[in-house]
Amino acid sequence: IPVEPFDLVIFGGTGDLARRKILPGLFRRFLSGQMPEDSRIIGAARSDIDSAGYRVMIKEAIAEFGGEEKSETKAIAKFLDRLEYVPVDARGEGGWSELAALVRSDVIRAFYFSVGPGLFGDLAERLHSYKIADRDSRIVVEKPFGRDLASAQELNETLAEHFKEDQIYRIDHYLGKETVQNLMAVRFGNVLFEPLWNNHYVDHIQITVAETVDVGGRGAYYDKSGAMRDMVQNHLMQLLCLIAMEPPSQFGADAVRDEKLKVIRALEPVEPHHIVRGQYEAGEDSKSYREHAENPRSFTESFIAMKCHISNWRWAGVPFYMRTGKAMSERVSEITVVFKDLGHSIFEEDDKRHRNILSIRLQPNEGMDLQVTIKEPGPGGMRLIDVPLDMTFAEALGDEAEDVPDAYERLIMDVIRGNQTLFMRGDEVEAAWKWTDPIIQGWEARNDVPKTYEPGSSGPEDAMLLIHRDGRKWREIK
Ligand code: NAD
Repeated sequence: IPVEPFDLVIFGGTGDLARRKILPGLFRRFLSGQMPEDSRIIGAARSDIDSAGYRVMIKEAIAEFGGEEKSETKAIAKFLDRLEYVPVDARGEGGWSELAALVRSDVIRAFYFSVGPGLFGDLAERLHSYKIADRDSRIVVEKPFGRDLASAQELNETLAEHFKEDQIYRIDHYLGKETVQNLMAVRFGNVLFEPLWNNHYVDHIQITVAETVDVGGRGAYYDKSGAMRDMVQNHLMQLLCLIAMEPPSQFGADAVRDEKLKVIRALEPVEPHHIVRGQYEAGEDSKSYREHAENPRSFTESFIAMKCHISNWRWAGVPFYMRTGKAMSERVSEITVVFKDLGHSIFEEDDKRHRNILSIRLQPNEGMDLQVTIKEPGPGGMRLIDVPLDMTFAEALGDEAEDVPDAYERLIMDVIRGNQTLFMRGDEVEAAWKWTDPIIQGWEARNDVPKTYEPGSSGPEDAMLLIHRDGRKWREIK
């Protein structure tokens, strides 16, 4: 379904994110017919190029990052016709009058801040003073949204000077993933799961976001952040909220975000011995974290595993184990709900422990599977085996799966539609920092040294112990 005609201005339109994700994503939406004829995308950045130069740049970006669509030369040419470019200085006055003249007032206006957060205030102020944005315009802001509670509050206040909360779209691209939305469909669209979704039936929940890449050339930047700020405070906590929240009264932006906020507020402070921080060592032909960070005494974590509790009626006593890291053995993002054992088995011949396990994969192969117990086929008596009821979207949906938009494309279209459900609200972001701040401050005060782990492994030994101590084990990363 096409959206309303729009002018989308991308500040930082020549940057890495714009070239790698935003523009190839918009091209795919264009191919699927979602972008109406008279919509335009306007790149605005520091580079002193013109619209023709910008089209060449984006043509190359689509060829490099756009997937198989690169053969669609005719469509690419048509898409490029929609592009304009204005050199703009976010901190000065250069380019702003030109931008004001270009942006139309009779279509939806959206402004993507794909620049460092240090420029958000400058952009917001100039959009206002040059009368480019009005009460109906939308702004999209990228992570990182602050590095602690104080800086996040400051950013929120800066944006609030010129934009209302219903105009601000804080992107967390994890929320744009098909599976994440499917998680809500599965929970709230089936009679099967919701009655079991509580501490009577759930033993524990695991959230794993493992990356194979190390911090590489981004080391110096990453060293100021670490896994807690870079991954847990935003992506993992968002996933935690969706899995743990109460059913909202309707699938609307504020109803959903109110419930997510309640989860964050109910998170108990984490005991220091329930957290394991890690830093990868050098591999056979790869550098160590500290070499990448160019900081031989760095205490920043490239891995974290933690055990958390949500202090409410539904989840009392159910541990949530979360882990994320760089330079790990596989690239996997997965949420796993491990249900409790049956209290009693009627099958004498079977001495194994069987459990229902629902796993929700965000990558690779977005999909879900539910481990169920059945009889082992054959004459061996009543022996039981666990098999997955697999629902990999690509297989289940066939050709339709090809048009499943990637996270960025979906989220940008939601901005144009004015749907904030999959975007973080200001109070959610602040509540998440409020929970993470004391943990980070504790490490800093104690000079906490991360444990080392081998690159290509599943993290430090202590991360295994964290869960083994409770008689449980991590899902294998595969
Ligand atoms: P980048 O350094 O590649 O690009 C920055 C862009 O900002 C360029 O287009 C540059 O011209 C423009 N710019 C810088 N200063 C400017 C000024 N004074 N006036 C006007 N334009 C100016 O950065 P990036 O990797 O594209 O990241 C952009 C934002 O997105 C950052 O906040 C980053 O943290 C965030 N982000 C990036 C990624 C990613 O994969 N690259 C992922 C998530 C979030």
